[in-house]
Amino acid sequence: MVEARCMKCKAPKQMKHAEIVMTARGGYMGKGKCPDCGTTMCAMMSKDNAEKAIKAGAKKAY
Ligand SMILES: [Zn+2]
Repeated sequence: MVEARCMKCKAPKQMKHAEIVMTARGGYMGKGKCPDCGTTMCAMMSKDNAEKAIKAGAKKAY
């Protein structure tokens, strides 16, 4: 799944409802919610990591 730092909890978390999107520059980004406080989280990802996250259950949104 997709890990990102929650700005509110100030800790890395596995994001809930993770979606993988493509950025304007052709990069990949994971978007989701913090499982503990619900804050929106996002993480820049490599293509490899994006594909792994999708295989692990993240939604492909590009
Ligand atoms: Zn949080």
